[in-house]
Parts: sequence; structure tokens; C-alpha cells
Amino acid sequence: MAEVIYLTRKALYPRFGFALPEKQIAYIRDDLPECVKQFVISHEVYHLTDNANWWVWREIKANMHSALRHPIGFMLCLQMSLVPYRLRYYLQRITGRAQ
Ligand SMILES: [Zn+2]
Repeated sequence: MAEVIYLTRKALYPRFGFALPEKQIAYIRDDLPECVKQFVISHEVYHLTDNANWWVWREIKANMHSALRHPIGFMLCLQMSLVPYRLRYYLQRITGRAQ
């Protein structure tokens, strides 16, 4: 059974959420707007049961699954991600310097 644990922005920075499949825990930033929080919960909980290996495919699957269920949260999450610290994080993931 998946467990959702809320953490501060500082604790999860630069992430909005984080999934730990081996413990079946999804960590979610507690200060997100409610609709974004619902999207991120759906996204991270999806990761808990997904067996795909390639991280890009894992993200596409989790985003598609969650955007269909929380379209407003998805749109706002995208908008909130167009800031330097989030873009830098994506760049670090793409180049393999962050998970
Ligand atoms: Zn993800």
C-alpha cells in the first residue's frame, strides 16, 4: 500500500515530489497549490508500481497517467516548472548529473 508523506520545499528542493518504490513511499512538497499537489501525488504514486527502466519513458508514462486525471494541476505544474532552478534540475537529469 502506497504511503504519501509531505515534506517542506527545502527538504525536496528542487523536486516537487519523489518516489521510493522499494519502500512504497511517495514524498510530496507540502506547499504546492492543491491542484498541483494532486497531480504530483498521482505522478509519484504511479512511479511506485511502474516497472519501466528508462527514466524518460517512466516520466512520460507518469505524466500522461496523471495529466489525464488532473489536467489543471498538470498545466499549472508545467508553468511552475518554467523557472531557472527547475530548468536547471531538468538539464541535470538529462545530462545524468541528477536523478
Ligand atoms: Zn517522475
